[in-house]
Amino acid sequence: MRLASKCCLPGGVQQALNTADIAILMTGSQASNAGGQVWNIGPGGNPVGWAAAAGEHYVFSHEIGHIFGCRHNRLRDPTGPYEHGYLMVGSTMRTLMA
Ligand SMILES: [Zn+2]
Repeated sequence: MRLASKCCLPGGVQQALNTADIAILMTGSQASNAGGQVWNIGPGGNPVGWAAAAGEHYVFSHEIGHIFGCRHNRLRDPTGPYEHGYLMVGSTMRTLMA
């Protein structure tokens, strides 16, 4: 609906629809157990997800990371050889995907 209300898209709204490489729906609230979600991680999946605008400030970037194939830290998700976030055990610090 917001896209349809914009007047300045080259080629108009209809040309812009179905042309996105990535789609993230920004929501006004979080789910009970998540601030965002992507259904398929990495290449070959649908690059679609959602992120709560009202959630933590990094959620949008975190979900984009999943679309590019990044995963949580190895303790949360041991799948895959190298694409994990880094959890600094014993610290409150962590990388974006951890
Ligand atoms: Zn995640």
